[in-house]
Amino acid sequence: MGIFSKIKEGLKKTRKGFVSQITNLFSSSSSIDEEFFEELEDILIGADVGVDTTMKIVEQIKERINEEKIKDPQDVDEILKEEVLNMLHFDSDEREVDDSLKVTLIVGVNGAGKTTSIGKLANRYKQNDQKVLLAAADTFRAAAIDQLKIWGDRVGVDVIRHQEGSDPAAVVYDGLQAARARKVDHLICDTAGRLHNKKNLMDELNKISRVIDRELGHPPHEVLLVLDATTGQNALNQAKLFSEVTPVSGIVLTKLDGTAKGGIVLALADELKLPIKYIGVGEGINDLQDFVSEQFVDALFSNSEDLTEN
Ligand code: GDP
Ligand code: MG
Repeated sequence: MGIFSKIKEGLKKTRKGFVSQITNLFSSSSSIDEEFFEELEDILIGADVGVDTTMKIVEQIKERINEEKIKDPQDVDEILKEEVLNMLHFDSDEREVDDSLKVTLIVGVNGAGKTTSIGKLANRYKQNDQKVLLAAADTFRAAAIDQLKIWGDRVGVDVIRHQEGSDPAAVVYDGLQAARARKVDHLICDTAGRLHNKKNLMDELNKISRVIDRELGHPPHEVLLVLDATTGQNALNQAKLFSEVTPVSGIVLTKLDGTAKGGIVLALADELKLPIKYIGVGEGINDLQDFVSEQFVDALFSNSEDLTEN
């Protein structure tokens, strides 16, 4: 399956749910009136777009309808797509680094899909002929360490790990040393998400960051926050919390295949001003895709005739 089909397939529930509601609204409304906008608002809010972001989108649509003197509800379709695309667009702020070793820290609450995403990411780098090493700095449970090791074996990359309960920063330190010694291109560090309060979380991530800072001379190249799309507005709250404790550089939004409310993508982009870098559209090794806004919007609003069969 091509990448585009894969994304379309992964967005099937969302397309069947929220997008087909919108399409129906556009095709069944006879005029653009208050009722039309109220219904549009309800659909967007119901799809986890969030109240603030919904209001913003609807205001922008209203303005353009006035300016462009649009009368036909069907023509709103194109405007909505353009507004969604604008909202999802981020200028690339990739730090130009010529470091031979790139370090990525993966953060997020338990169950969000960190370890799985690391496995998928490692696989992608490896397929691009990059040498990858993983560091099991989620030391809370032995099972978490084992799970990363299983992914490492599956992908064919080594995993630096210590015993359960050991200091996560020490695991990262060892990971950095090993990465240098083995001339690795990419070190990806798993972290724990089950931290019972904000201070704990902050302390642990700070300590890990300090180790990386000291060893590299600068912060990690990437701090990716992993969020579960099926948790809706909760994901937004988690994102706010994590952004407060650590400088997040981008988002990995997992389990988009498991929700009919893919509107969370819009709420995240609008409220956090953080780019979504990858999306998870399944549990398999190849189910992590680059987030390309044009591609995403195309897949989201693409013809829905293939949605009827099941
Ligand atoms: P962690 O606690 O953050 O490390 O989360 P895990 O990586 O252990 O993932 C928790 C569960 O979510 C596992 O059962 C994964 O298979 C599942 N998962 C992760 N990403 C995706 C995704 O994109 N789609 C689906 N359907 N499941 C996913
Ligand atoms: Mg994990």
